[in-house]
Amino acid sequence: MSAAPYPWLDAAWQRLLASRARPAQALLLAGPRGVGKGALARIWAQALLCEAPQTDGGACGTCPACHWLASGAHPDFLRVTLLEKTNREGETRMATAIEVEQAREAVDFVQLSTYRAGYRVVLIDPADNLNLAAANALLKVLEEPPLNTVFVLVSDQPRRLLPTIRSRCTRLDIGLPPAGTAVRWLAGQDVSDAENLLALSGGTPLAALRWAEGGELDERRGVLESLARPERLDPVTLGERWKTLSPQAWHTLAYKWLGDLLAVRLRGRVQFNRDFADPLARLGPQANLARLLALARMQTDEGRTLTHPLNRALQLQAWLVRYRHIFG
Ligand SMILES: [Zn+2]
Repeated sequence: MSAAPYPWLDAAWQRLLASRARPAQALLLAGPRGVGKGALARIWAQALLCEAPQTDGGACGTCPACHWLASGAHPDFLRVTLLEKTNREGETRMATAIEVEQAREAVDFVQLSTYRAGYRVVLIDPADNLNLAAANALLKVLEEPPLNTVFVLVSDQPRRLLPTIRSRCTRLDIGLPPAGTAVRWLAGQDVSDAENLLALSGGTPLAALRWAEGGELDERRGVLESLARPERLDPVTLGERWKTLSPQAWHTLAYKWLGDLLAVRLRGRVQFNRDFADPLARLGPQANLARLLALARMQTDEGRTLTHPLNRALQLQAWLVRYRHIFG
C-alpha cells in the first residue's frame, strides 16, 4: 500500500490513485497553505512517472524513474516555480511572479516527445503566482494537453487564478485537517504544545511544525511579551533586536497579534494567541480602533509581498511607533 504523505491527505490520495489509469490532464490541487498540497503533488507526479508502480498505483521508489525524480533529474518532469533573482545591489530575493518565459518553457517542454515511454508531468507551484502573460501562454496547452501529458497546478488561493485556467482543470480541494488528526500528527513529530501551535497557525499542521522546528517559537514569546506592554516598548532597541527575525516569522507574528487585538476589540475573544489571552483582553478595549485597523491593513498588504527593500531595523521601528500610538 502506498501511503499519503500526511494522514489527513488519505482520502485525496486514494482518489488520485483511483484515477491512475486515466489521470486528469490538468489537475488543480487547491486548499490553504500548510496542508501538504505540494507533497501530494510531488508523490502524484512520482506515481505517474514510476516505471514499476505498485498494484494500487503508487510509486515503487526504486526504479530508475523514481531515482531520477528524487535527484531532480527526470527528463519528463518539469517544475515551474518562483525563481530566485539577484538585483543590481547583489541581493537575492524570491521573484513574486512566475514569468511568461517560464510558461513558454513549459509549453515547449510538452511539445517534445517524451524520453521514457510513460507520462510527462508539469508541476506548477504556486500556480497563484502565474502572472497574466504566463497564465495566457499556458491556456492553450491546458485546454488540449499533448498525449500522456499531465499538468498539476498547486494553489493556495484558487480564486486568484484566471477563471479560464480554473475552468480547464479538474479540481481537487484539500481542506484543513480535523484538529484532532493534526494535533496527533504534531505530537508524533515530537511537537510539544501542539494544540496551541495549531491554533497559532490557523489550523495548518505544517505551518505549526515549521514554527516548532524553526526555533522561532522562543522568539515569539519574547516578541509578544513586548507587544503586550506597549507602554514600556522601546522601538529603537526592539527594531535592532528583531531585525534578525525572518520576514515571514515577523509578518506572521505581527499579523496574528493585530488580528487578535481586533478580535478582542470587536468580538471579545482571542483567535490565535490563546496563551496571551489575558494581556490581549486587557489591551483590546484600550486600542484606538481606527489606528489599529490602519496598521492591520498595512500588515496585510505587506504579507502579499514580504519583500523588505528598506533598512529592516528602521522599518520595524516605524512599525513599533505606530503600534504604540494605537494605545494613545
Ligand atoms: Zn518507481
